[in-house]
Amino acid sequence: MRSGGAAPGMAAGAMLKHRRTALERVEKFVSAAYFTDCNLRGRLYGASRPPAALSCFQSPLRVPYGEAVGRRFGPAAVGDSFGPAWETCWFKVELSIPPAWAGREVHFVWESDGEGMVWRDGQPVQGLTKEGEKTSYILTSCLKESEPHSVTLYVELACNGLFGAGKGTMIAPPDPNRRFTVSKAELVVFNRDVYELLVDLEILLDMARLLGEENQRSFQALYAANQMVNVCDVTDPATFPAARDLAAAIFGQRNGESQHSIHAMGHCHIDSAWLWPYEETIRKCARSWVTVIRLMESNPELTFVCSQAQQFEWVRSWYPGLYAQIQDYVAKGRFVPVGGTWVEMDGNLPSGEAMVRQFLQGQRFFREQFGRICSEFWLPDTFGYSAQLPQLMRGCGIGRFLTQKLSWNLVNAFPHHTFFWEGIDGSRVLTHFPPGDSYGMLGRVEEMLKTVKNNKDKGRVNHSAVLFGFGDGGGGPTQKMLDRMKRMRDTDGLPRVQMSTPDRLFSVLEKESSQLCTWVGELFLELHNGTYTTQAQIKKGNRECERILHDVEVLSALALAQDSSFQYPASQLQRLWRLLLLNQFHDVLPGSCIQLVVEDALQYYAEIRRAGAQLQEEAVQSLCGDLLQPESGHAEGTLVLNTLPWERTEVISRTGPAGAEVLALVTAPSMGYAILREPLPPPQPVTVVKQEDGSVTMENGVIAVCLDAMGRLTSLRLAHSEREAVADGCCANQFALFDDVPLYWDAWDVMDYHLETRKPVTTLLKPLEITLAGGLRGSASFSLRVGKSSTLTQEIVLDATCPYIRFLTQVEWKESHKFLKVEFPVQVRSTNATYEIQFGHVQRPTHWNTSWDWARFEVWAHKWMDLSEHGFGVAVLNDSKYGASARGNVLSLSLLRAPKSPDATADITQHHFTYAVLPHRGSFQDAGVIQCAYNLNFPLHAVPASCAQCPAWSAFSVSSPAVVLETVKQAEDRPDAVVVRLYEAHGSTAVTWLRSSLPVTEAMLCDLLEQPLAKEPLALEQQGVRLSFTPFQVLSILLVLRQ
Ligand SMILES: [Zn+2]
Repeated sequence: MRSGGAAPGMAAGAMLKHRRTALERVEKFVSAAYFTDCNLRGRLYGASRPPAALSCFQSPLRVPYGEAVGRRFGPAAVGDSFGPAWETCWFKVELSIPPAWAGREVHFVWESDGEGMVWRDGQPVQGLTKEGEKTSYILTSCLKESEPHSVTLYVELACNGLFGAGKGTMIAPPDPNRRFTVSKAELVVFNRDVYELLVDLEILLDMARLLGEENQRSFQALYAANQMVNVCDVTDPATFPAARDLAAAIFGQRNGESQHSIHAMGHCHIDSAWLWPYEETIRKCARSWVTVIRLMESNPELTFVCSQAQQFEWVRSWYPGLYAQIQDYVAKGRFVPVGGTWVEMDGNLPSGEAMVRQFLQGQRFFREQFGRICSEFWLPDTFGYSAQLPQLMRGCGIGRFLTQKLSWNLVNAFPHHTFFWEGIDGSRVLTHFPPGDSYGMLGRVEEMLKTVKNNKDKGRVNHSAVLFGFGDGGGGPTQKMLDRMKRMRDTDGLPRVQMSTPDRLFSVLEKESSQLCTWVGELFLELHNGTYTTQAQIKKGNRECERILHDVEVLSALALAQDSSFQYPASQLQRLWRLLLLNQFHDVLPGSCIQLVVEDALQYYAEIRRAGAQLQEEAVQSLCGDLLQPESGHAEGTLVLNTLPWERTEVISRTGPAGAEVLALVTAPSMGYAILREPLPPPQPVTVVKQEDGSVTMENGVIAVCLDAMGRLTSLRLAHSEREAVADGCCANQFALFDDVPLYWDAWDVMDYHLETRKPVTTLLKPLEITLAGGLRGSASFSLRVGKSSTLTQEIVLDATCPYIRFLTQVEWKESHKFLKVEFPVQVRSTNATYEIQFGHVQRPTHWNTSWDWARFEVWAHKWMDLSEHGFGVAVLNDSKYGASARGNVLSLSLLRAPKSPDATADITQHHFTYAVLPHRGSFQDAGVIQCAYNLNFPLHAVPASCAQCPAWSAFSVSSPAVVLETVKQAEDRPDAVVVRLYEAHGSTAVTWLRSSLPVTEAMLCDLLEQPLAKEPLALEQQGVRLSFTPFQVLSILLVLRQ
């Protein structure tokens, strides 16, 4: 082993060096697999000794510490395995440190494929996870005689790994029978000097390998490493300092001024639920963050960046001791809360208001707990980013954004890493993608070099972020990562690597920003496009619960304004919003989670529905209590409530005198109510006629349709018009089934090639029959077989006065790797289709000219999509779908998928959903498509009431059809005020009056966090408040009410 070669400092010039043998020689010297009998790695640990006693108990529940220590522990041994998945084992570990180890560093080493937490004296002290390269709990760094030599630890072992309990591949559904083994539990002496040398050699080896033969630093590093092996006698630690000096000489050779600067930040991406349930995430946070605290204690430079208010809240309530330590480090600026949102939510599907609430709940939490709001939005792992986000960030005190997910694009490489991102209203935020394309780096030379090389904005900016720490399932930074980067602080040939914070990084980027480019519009992820459709029940729960909370807030706010003694249910609403926001996490709402998570999510939706119904009833009772008591002797009437900001005339279903459901045409005022006494006669009744060939025609004086026996639209026209909306020779409302087998990410991905497998659904089970003969409502229904064993039943409904026809759909879905869509080939030519997004809309091409166009073969939309040419168009509305596409003249709505990983049962159940088609003259804006989509999603509420004389009452109305009053809620910090939120929906500059019958004494513009924007209140005139909007602008107004 010893070469007896040149001593350090002596010229060794005469020795021949072969690059490969020199490299491999050093590799073998640090190898964990080869020559450990004589190499340096074999000396990392000294003496060891088993625990004095080891005992355990197992429970199906996640037993907390206080309860666990009181349980009866039975015998346990290293090598024992535990299961099934999701159970918990508590171990009592009694250790006795030999006095002979005085002066040595002593570790408790614990190796298991289950995630562990070490508890000592009633507190969590260290997370241990083999996958996260954490197997040591440091008992003492230098054993003193005065220290206790007998120590009792508890280890809480979860029967799941960092990535859950999948069978085989990572995203396979959990294996219920999987077992987890304790493979090591012992006391060891840790040789810190050996460890430091190993890290030195690793960095030098990486420099030698990765800088390449054309770079002289590669050889300098290699020769230094080779010489270190020469001087190092592994059996004699006295030789180590000389070897370390050789390494230090290389690391101490500094860069020139122009070198790139890396801002390293500790990070630990913890999915709030994914391949494990929410409950396990609480423990993942504790395991990961307590480990960060330990590292902070011994590494004063370490900073750690941490997002998701919900996770802080979990740790606050479950681990108060740990939380207090975190608060300490937050105050010191080292544990850095970022993101400003409740969870790292999906960036596409949540409604505009739900996105506002992500920030409102998040920023308020951060301010309350840590005294300041976040300045950076943080969403490194989400599947695309809505073009509305820049405006929402700006409205919530945030002008900076970090992600990296677009590096996953399948087709096009995104052209920037640092740039301004401009949203649909023109708001801009400074955006940074760490050029290393990761949020879970390990602090290696390779990553630092990639960060510099890959940076697309060379010459514009000279600073980048590196986020290091195991992530997704938690884990976080390790000591070794820190020790690697210490050696790269300023070493010629490598970028400078400094511990930093998001604020420091973005501050220098802001200074350098004059040369930065701007990206306008959505940040579309060219991957994971199946997540707009997967787990349809979650999508439906999300849309419905967004509606429920909207309605409860509107009605409760009106009740409050009418009667200041009404108890606005602020804390209940906060609880329900937080449940909804949690379910919008980026593996839950997208449907990319395991079955256990789906069950939790559906339960949260059920809770919102249940509690929401109760709160709505209380608000209506307070608002119109007098009207709800039917006076004896009076015929029963119906109270009709409208939570939308425009007058509506619609057919509703109500309970008639005999208890049967009867239809009635009613007019309800804008955001208000009316008593229905005499139903209105329809201006023109619906007619439904069956033709001899089995087809059915329906007409209501607004639109006219013709349906074939399979329920397909063969004709769709505006009444009294010859303009046909269905493309020549085609049928609309045509179902199509596609093979849907992605490359790997099953629940996530639908690939371009699925389009080559289209099969129209044409197996008729029950031909179209008239089910309602007309008058106020006409309908017809039919059934189809879909695929091998699924069935679809549809009722096609046309109401009097309604400009769209509805398709009430029920599917018994039993497919495997199939994708069901419904298509509307229309007689409209346009190179762009329009899709609703949060508080606005975007256009996307209907052609595939460039790779950027065809990579968007499957896109997302909210309540509507539209294809229009000058003067005419067709819109497709929906009540719970998000996946869509428009190619050429065919509008498609994505209905159901059937992926098998990570949830083998995904979507195999009964589904109910509704969509509608709306042909229109003029633009979709002028035709009221936006309002119709709201109407479909926010049905009028009909409540039995007295038949008293009562004029219709409207709380709010808006004079411009371009402006939507979306939200009415109690102000967060002023119980005597309500906040209303409006947005410009047409993409136009608009002026409007907001009128209100509420006792408003003062009106002030405020931001999305409800902070007043100007000293001066808005002028309250007789007409209300006059508001000016730029295209897609969102305005919030604080209205103070008279008490
Ligand atoms: Zn994630």
